[in-house]
Amino acid sequence: MTRPYNFSAGPAAMPESVLRLAAVEMLDWQGSGMSVMEMSHRGKAFMSICETAERDLRELLAVPSQFRILFMQGGGLAENAIVPLNLSRGGAVDFVVTGGWSQKSAKEANKYATARIAASNEADGHTSLPTPASWKLGKDAQYVHLCSNETIHGVEFHELPDLKALGCDAPLVIDFSSHVASRPVDWSRVGLAFGGAQKNLGPAGLTLVVVREDLLGHALAVCPSAFDYKTVADNGSMYNTPPTYAIYMAGLTFQWLKRQTAGGLSGVAAIEQQNKAKAELLYSFIDNSQFYQNKVAKDCRSRMNIPFFLRDEARNEAFLSGAQAAGLLQLKGHKSVGGMRASIYNAMPLEGVQALVSYMREFEMTQA
Ligand SMILES: *Cc1c(COP(=O)(O)O)cnc(C)c1O
Repeated sequence: MTRPYNFSAGPAAMPESVLRLAAVEMLDWQGSGMSVMEMSHRGKAFMSICETAERDLRELLAVPSQFRILFMQGGGLAENAIVPLNLSRGGAVDFVVTGGWSQKSAKEANKYATARIAASNEADGHTSLPTPASWKLGKDAQYVHLCSNETIHGVEFHELPDLKALGCDAPLVIDFSSHVASRPVDWSRVGLAFGGAQKNLGPAGLTLVVVREDLLGHALAVCPSAFDYKTVADNGSMYNTPPTYAIYMAGLTFQWLKRQTAGGLSGVAAIEQQNKAKAELLYSFIDNSQFYQNKVAKDCRSRMNIPFFLRDEARNEAFLSGAQAAGLLQLKGHKSVGGMRASIYNAMPLEGVQALVSYMREFEMTQA
């Protein structure tokens, strides 16, 4: 059986070998007589699954020891509230708006704090990144929030800002939902990173939070206990029942990631090389075409989410139905942007992008 290529923005394609291993282990995990879904989260078997997942993730992302790794629930959208509940102290927060997700984050934070827009690329339709030197960061900001990869608009920070160098002592919060584990993270510039699992790590239901220890313990009194980072950290992510099966699946994905190699590199460094090659293939095809178009500035184009347009939008329906027939799924763009979007996360093999480019070339020829 060959599976079609799934370009969904999320929930997204998972590595086939991970799905196959999960299928083998579905009814009986390693002689336990139970599916992982049926295990007590405090039992020995699941505790070992969870600890291994956390250790592998720490190794893969080179997370320093002064950061805690939390497995939570609620997704990126819940974190839009949970972060200000924990970090804002009810004060002011500066947002760098670079697309739909950071815009949403600012709006939600404003319920619990004073959300200020320090910079925005709204004027150019979210197709560029405002240079950090132009950001209006307040001295009283409790933290600065940005979305390091805008899933809808296809804008990615290829370097995180050095807030200290900008004269700002506030911690940087990043929403890395849609490019976590696709590239290394410079933790020296980050106070907290969060992301839903369903794009690059595993199934929906698990939310990853990586937080510097000194930021724990400042939650507002109204913060739900299950969302207080300190409570979650003190209880090893088991204050409430964690999303056990999603953690297990993410753990299998981490092991798959550790096995990746490319040009003498392994793990995240290897997958980064693969991701670069995949993105370059698609962008260079689009840029060399008179038929297709990508509108994002070249220095901040996402390696994960590539929105593109047919110059003649009357052909959109034919493009999508032909793609579906060719085994290329979920290419329709987000409703707020239109056109097409190819999400090519870690689990998308190079062959999938090659198949997409071949289809795009053929489609153009049939339309001449
Ligand atoms: C998908 C996504 C979210 C929302 O995640 P949910 O799990 O649906 O809450 C937030 N931020 C970014 C950047 C995303 O890509």
